[in-house]
Formats: sequence, structure tokens, C-alpha cells
Amino acid sequence: MIQIENFNFKGLKAIVRVDFNVPLDKKTFVVTDDTRIRGALPTIRKIIGDGGSCILMSHLGRPEGRQEKYSLKPVLPVLEKHLGMSVKFADDCLGDETAKTAAALKPGEILLLENVRFYPEEEGKPILPETATDEEKKAAKAELKAKQKVLAQKLASYADVYVNDAFGTAHRAHGTTAVIADYFPAGKKMFGFLINSELAAMDRVLHNPQKPFTAIMGGAKVSDKILLIENLLNKVDNLIIGGGMTYTFIKAMGGKIGKSLCEEDKLDLALNIINKAKEKGVNLLLPVDSVNADKFDNEAQVSLSAIDNVPEGWLGLDIGEKTIEKFSEVIMNSKTILWNGPMGVFEMEKFSAGTVAIAKAIAASTAKGAYSLVGGGDSVAAVNKYNLAGSISYVSTGGGAMLEYMEGKKLPGITAIRGE
Ligand code: AMP
Repeated sequence: MIQIENFNFKGLKAIVRVDFNVPLDKKTFVVTDDTRIRGALPTIRKIIGDGGSCILMSHLGRPEGRQEKYSLKPVLPVLEKHLGMSVKFADDCLGDETAKTAAALKPGEILLLENVRFYPEEEGKPILPETATDEEKKAAKAELKAKQKVLAQKLASYADVYVNDAFGTAHRAHGTTAVIADYFPAGKKMFGFLINSELAAMDRVLHNPQKPFTAIMGGAKVSDKILLIENLLNKVDNLIIGGGMTYTFIKAMGGKIGKSLCEEDKLDLALNIINKAKEKGVNLLLPVDSVNADKFDNEAQVSLSAIDNVPEGWLGLDIGEKTIEKFSEVIMNSKTILWNGPMGVFEMEKFSAGTVAIAKAIAASTAKGAYSLVGGGDSVAAVNKYNLAGSISYVSTGGGAMLEYMEGKKLPGITAIRGE
């Protein structure tokens, strides 16, 4: 497999799948967070710097066919500002004009294509009425899969080289994330710098962690994280559980959890995780105290209780002081830290203390020499909210993609290039 840093793009056209799926202001359509655009800049700069040209493709949102509110046009001025140069924009991906513009692209020039998800074949998911029969669904899917190949082949024909730098969609087998790679020979397809850093960070934690290795799992549901937890039980020294999923564990062990979030059908699974941790010699840490609310509201009455004694009718929405102390000590003594999922309902000020404290402990441990990887939409949002991103070794840009890679799954966008 070729590496982008060793490749010379001089005189070549590169078609680059980036992740410009940025949030837009609902009224003005101005980009409200340009993190993802900045993430793609090193790759674009390398191609242009070498004397190549660049055709950028991305999705934005989940359009059903062409819907102007999902246009990538608002990205253009932000991209131009960061690069300090003008960027061409094509109103579609496959039209004759676009093909001509791509063909006429000169070294050093950049062309941004309109949202590739305006073509349903990109995702390969047919848009059908609810009344469609199974037969109709199957036929529509097969037809769209065939069209997906046509889309991928046409886009591939614009360029000499394919670069995938869209980590956020690497777990999707879409036209521009995976299928397009089939139309380039091995020496003409590669990852961009962003995907490379994501893979390096995850591989370091998964395959080469300095010990002690601590994983901190939080967020709402056990069911979302179960595969990750199971994979991590083979690797970590300490597994910290916090957030909403805590209460399923506590109930499974016979504790009182009031009205706290609980997945009744996952109680056995929770016990199974506890037993597996024991078998494998993993130190499983659960909260010892709970910050409770009488309703799911920032204006709620608040009370503190032991984790297994949440009063009737109350809900546990954050970890308490004793838990913070216990978790922080383990985090401070770790050499590798993985964090996925908040410790409480941090979106509400009253229930954010646990998440803030854990984020700070990870930052402090990192300052002491630990390697820290934070991923998953909400923990990344928390780290950004508390201005701690710069104090974490690596903050992942891909929620679902990171989760799947860390679960040990093969990601179509990665396999399409690495070929395993
Ligand atoms: P996830 O996407 O699974 O990482 O879950 C993140 C969500 O979990 C956030 O929106 C939190 O508000 C929520 N969450 C964290 N702790 C709790 C809790 N104790 N009860 C209910 N929701 C929670």
C-alpha cells in the first residue's frame, strides 16, 4: 500500500473523498463548525503543493435526492479562506459540464463537487414508499447497486489517483468511500493524512498500548457499546463504566435505581460482562454514588445517593464526588486511556460535573505522559465544550467509524484501499 507522504502528485489529478458533513446554521446556511473542513486541509495542501490538482467530493446530511438545503456551496467560502485561494464549484457530480471542468483542471487547481448524496446510488439505499413489497425493495436495491458502480466508475474517470480522507464515513460501503477504489490500480489509491492519523491513534491503543490501559465507557446505552466493551475486555487493565449504562449494571446486581435509564433486556448481558471481566482479570469499576434528579430537566431537584440506592421515582443523571475521586485516581495512574461516552447528562449544566471532571483527569494524566484517545460524538463534544481538545493526545473525528474499528470490525472504506 502506498503512503501519501511518499507519493508525488505532480501533474496528476487526484479525486479525494473528504468529510465536509459540517453543521450549518438553519437560517443563514453558514458553516457553524469547520473542524471537518480543517481536517482535510493537510491532504489538499500536499496534492496542490506537489503540483497536482484536486477534485473534492463529500456528502452533507441525509438528502433524499437533490435538496438545496443540503448543498455543499456554503463550504466553498470556508475552504477558500483556509487555503487562501479560489476553489471551483460544480453544481452536480456527473453532468457533462462537470466532466468538462474536471478534465480541464490545471495543476494547482481545486474543484469541489456538489453533494454526492444527491445521487441515491451513492449510498445504495433506495427511496421507496412504505407500501413497497419485499420484492420491490429487493429489485430497487439491486438496480441501485448497479448504478452505484456506474457512479463510481464515472467519478474515477475524472482522475489519475484516488485518495480517501473521509474517516467519518469509512464504515460505509458507499460509491465514493469504497466502490470507487475498484477503478484504480494498487499504486494509485491511498489514504489521506486524516485517515492515517485516525488509524495510527486507534492501532496504537488497540495493538500497542502502554500499560496500565484504561477504557472509560459512558453514554446512554449498553446495547450501543456492547461489542466495543467485549473487544476491550481482551485488552484493558481497567474498564470504567459511567453514564446512563451504569444503571443497567447496578439493577442487574440487585441495586435500586429508581426511574434511571435501564435496558431491562440487557440485564443478563451486564452480568455476563461483569463475569467476563473477572475471568480475564480486568478491574471493572462502576460508580459508587449517583447524582439524582426528580425529573429529566436542568431545573430539577437534585439529590445524592449511593449508586445502588436511587430513591423511588428519581433518576440518576451523573456520577457523584466519590466516584469522580475513584475514577480519577485510576485515570491518573494509567499510561493509555480510551474514552467513549459522557459520564452523565452533560448537556445540562447541573449534571455535567462528572463528565467535566473525567475530561480534566484525562487531560492531567496526558500531561503526565499518558497517551489518550477520545472518540464518539458526545465525548468529543464534551472535550471541545470544556476547551480540553488540545490536552488530549488524539481526538477522533469519526463517531460510528471509530466505534466499529475499535470493535474489531473491518471498515469498507479502509479495506477498499488496504485490501484485507
Ligand atoms: P452515547 O451517544 O451513547 O455516547 O450517549 C450520549 C448521551 O448519553 C448523552 O446525550 C447523555 O446525555 C446521555 N447520558 C449520559 N448519562 C446519562 C444518564 N445517566 N441518564 C440518561 N442519559 C444519559
